[in-house]
Amino acid sequence: MNKLRAQLQIVGFCLLLGLALGHGTFVYDFFQRTAEVEQDAAQRVQNELEDGAEGYRRFVYDASRHGHLIAEMPMVKRLLVPNGGSTADDVALALDRFADIYGRYLQVRVLDSEGVEIIRFDRPDKSKPAFRSYDLQDKSSRPYVVAAQSLPRFHSYVSEISANMERGQIVVPHVPTFRSVVPVDDGEKTVGFVVLNARVGDILASVAAELLPFLSNYEVIFYVGEKQFWQLKNGQWNWDTSTSVQSWVNQQNAQLFSAEVAMRNQAPITDQIVKGAQSPFQIYDFDQRRQLHTNFVDKMYVKLSVPHAEWESHVARELEKENVGAYLTIIAFSSLVSLLVSGLVLVYVNQQKARNQRLAEAKRLAQTDHLTGVWSRAGFEEGLEALRARLGSDVRHLGICLLDVDHFKHINDTWGHATGDTVLRELAKVVKRELRDYDLLARWGGEEFVIMLEGVSSQVAKNVAERIRQAVASHVFSTELGQSVDVTISMGVTLMSKGSLDQALERADNAMYLAKTEGRNQVRLTLSQDSSKEVLNIGDTVPDYLLKTDEGEFLLSDYMGGRWLILFSHPKDYTPVCTSELAKIAQMSDVWDSLNTKPIALSLDSIEQHVGWKQDIAKVAGCAVKFPLIADTDLDLAKAFNMIPAHAVLANNWTADDVQTVRGVFILSPDKRLRLSLLYPMSIGRDFNEIVRLLKALQSQDAAQ
Ligand code: GH3
Ligand code: MG
Ligand code: MG
Repeated sequence: MNKLRAQLQIVGFCLLLGLALGHGTFVYDFFQRTAEVEQDAAQRVQNELEDGAEGYRRFVYDASRHGHLIAEMPMVKRLLVPNGGSTADDVALALDRFADIYGRYLQVRVLDSEGVEIIRFDRPDKSKPAFRSYDLQDKSSRPYVVAAQSLPRFHSYVSEISANMERGQIVVPHVPTFRSVVPVDDGEKTVGFVVLNARVGDILASVAAELLPFLSNYEVIFYVGEKQFWQLKNGQWNWDTSTSVQSWVNQQNAQLFSAEVAMRNQAPITDQIVKGAQSPFQIYDFDQRRQLHTNFVDKMYVKLSVPHAEWESHVARELEKENVGAYLTIIAFSSLVSLLVSGLVLVYVNQQKARNQRLAEAKRLAQTDHLTGVWSRAGFEEGLEALRARLGSDVRHLGICLLDVDHFKHINDTWGHATGDTVLRELAKVVKRELRDYDLLARWGGEEFVIMLEGVSSQVAKNVAERIRQAVASHVFSTELGQSVDVTISMGVTLMSKGSLDQALERADNAMYLAKTEGRNQVRLTLSQDSSKEVLNIGDTVPDYLLKTDEGEFLLSDYMGGRWLILFSHPKDYTPVCTSELAKIAQMSDVWDSLNTKPIALSLDSIEQHVGWKQDIAKVAGCAVKFPLIADTDLDLAKAFNMIPAHAVLANNWTADDVQTVRGVFILSPDKRLRLSLLYPMSIGRDFNEIVRLLKALQSQDAAQ
């Protein structure tokens, strides 16, 4: 169930991550597409605009070409030379047809060399046919006639765009118009002019028409120079000479586009005219000297402005079309990918798990002894490492016991190897029963075991070993057939100090060798030479000493029972100062109780001496002495608490008779840590007010934390 939940969590996590990434991708994609749509739209508008500019350029050339077609007609030439042989009516027949075909021309005219109209067709309304006008006028002072007359022979002319004029009046609404003027040459000189008034607004408006389905709000201007510009607004052209291009541009809160009309002043147009020639008006006698003149001083431009709001709504419309599809695609894709990824992650996680399980199993096997199920040597060393890491500098007071079966060879020889194995298995069980859960038991090899006891004094370690020895000796081992096998063990015990495990094992081995040589089935203890120097410092955890007192033997932890402990050491029983001090401690029993503290006293004297002396103390105190007196005859505590004066240290084989302990006060907090130690010389008594003050100070300090 848990496994399923963990797997679902992985899938869910991958999905969430995938969806988050998917949404991020969508937002990114949205901005990308926005930029693309804007770019596309801009490109499209620009293309249309350039098409328009190109259309205009072709339109101008067409107007010139058409002029040439007419000017090259023999009957037109003959009309313009005296007695040429053709009449205006003859020519009018052809021009009528021309004017009907080309609705773009407002007027189609033939002028004589002075500039007086000879034939004229008008077509003010493109939707109606052209009609011949007999209201012929003198145009000799009009700028396009003057300009054309001043050009070299064969050169034609295109005027700037202006409004259409009728009898000096500008026709409203404004119709943007230019005049194409082409000379008629009789072979010697210019004899007249063909003039076409070209309606140019339509071609420009068609630019706008192309954009209509795409944009609905925009403005087009078409201009030459700084001041002359034509403006298309709501489908109507307006010729504006009062606004400058710059001020128009400044007014636009809009996206601006611009295209140049590629036409230069005095551009030779021979090629265009030849290429563009087509029936029904063929050029029969084309003169290579012909050139087109425009009065376009500057380049011509078409500009288009689209208000930002229009632009944005166009972009938004375009994006809307794609958003749902893009969103669904991206989210579906990212979900799919994240599911795939979660699958891969699951496979990976499961593989790792299986691998870790295999490794853990392999490690467990390596750390366990197959025969007995206790730790192997490797497991023991690992356990010791872990313990060292946990205890840090507190690593002293580890008891190490080596255990070896006595005459095991004999057991094997007598009962067979299988029984030997059974004995080893059984033995491990018996030993284990005597240990605490956190003590380590390992098979060191063959019929040898090692035991590590945590937080013990040498005395306790030896006692535990003794208990184990007795348990084995009294246990009934038996063969498969039920015959009983006598099994005894020998043990060597030591304390492991800051030195290495090897040193401790060597000491334990030496101790065991002693046990073997001195008759087997016994326990021997060997301590290191410098163990007397291994004193407890403030803050150290005090090992769980087995206390031998006038009130019996018990472990230090059992006596404390989770309370504070105050330990008073004194040099010698039956001395007056010691007697009165211990009497004082007895009298203060309420004080100790109120401070949740248990007092205890210590000297190196024997239990018998303690029992007798206690009666004296009670007499002096005038009350019962309710605390035990420790008989530290092995000097375990005296050494550990540094109660032995320097001059009294007599190497390792000292006895209680050799030394006396100094007058000391030691306070232990409920966690068995040494919190205070006060050492007095043997001859100076203690100040109990000060001692109580110190105890209270420690307790209030702990309470504050
Ligand atoms: P001592 O009292 O001096 O220790 O005598 P001992 O016979 O026990 O000592 P020794 O070291 O000479 O013999 C140990 C024997 O233990 C030798 C070996 O064959 C046997 N042995 C070692 N491992 C095993 C095992 O796993 N199973 C069995 N059945 N015997 C083992
Ligand atoms: Mg052995
Ligand atoms: Mg043996």
